[in-house]
Amino acid sequence: MSAHSPVLILVPGSRPADPAAPALLVTDLAATRGDGVFETIGVFDGRAVNVGPHLDRLERSARMMDLPLPAREELSAAMEAAIAAHDPVAELTVRVIVSRGVEGSGEPTAWVHARAADDWSSHRAGMRVITLDRGLATTAPRTSPWLLAGAKSLSYAVNMAATREAVRRGARDVLFVASDGYVLEGPTSTLLVRRGEDFLTTPVSAGVLPGTSVGTLFAALQAEGRSAREELMTVADVAGSDGAWLLSSSRLAAPLTHLDEAELPVDRELTERFGRLLTGRD
Ligand code: PLP
Repeated sequence: MSAHSPVLILVPGSRPADPAAPALLVTDLAATRGDGVFETIGVFDGRAVNVGPHLDRLERSARMMDLPLPAREELSAAMEAAIAAHDPVAELTVRVIVSRGVEGSGEPTAWVHARAADDWSSHRAGMRVITLDRGLATTAPRTSPWLLAGAKSLSYAVNMAATREAVRRGARDVLFVASDGYVLEGPTSTLLVRRGEDFLTTPVSAGVLPGTSVGTLFAALQAEGRSAREELMTVADVAGSDGAWLLSSSRLAAPLTHLDEAELPVDRELTERFGRLLTGRD
């Protein structure tokens, strides 16, 4: 745990509130239904990465859930205020959270919370990952949009339960598999796979979050003339690949050492380069 105090900003507003004081009503739909959306943004040496894409994704998730959001400028201002009010640290995690508000009010509740990032160094060194069935087909976004596949909603209990299941089975994390056999994403991360000189990720249309981190890496790879694209992949495709990572804004690029029983090659140099790109240092 970090000794630095977290910072809380209630939106609208940009003045820090006491993060230890009560701030949410017990009838807020964040608490009673997990009904809301959120984003987690990485801040490295004081610089927030991919703010625009994160706010775009917050808006996308909110649209999928018919959820009203505060003005984008209010959210951006609160985020900037939270970063400015926090002690300087190398890695900061900023959460922007919007719920459907107090039951019956029709007004969203929004807040920004900044805290020193968790220590992700062991994940970044390499992880054992297991596959787990998500129970939805890759067609779910079209056939059953109410299941909210691909929305970053506050209902993350299933994602956290899957991560605990991985730990129970001696692994670090999970790669979700769709009921039609294609790999999806991690509970809090996007899959990136290397096949020769091709870099691949799950299509967003299959019901995964549009990852901001994979967006950054794809732009950098494509700028070098390398192939980086979406493709539906099976577990065997990933297990037989030339390397795979789980990506997210705070964890950065965590290479898979194993997928279930299969061992995967780990390219340390490339992983470090991905880390620099994802912190905005490259
Ligand atoms: N997929 C899921 C389900 C996530 O929760 C996250 C991030 O938390 C990601 C993918 C990765 O997204 P990003 O790279 O924008 O952090």
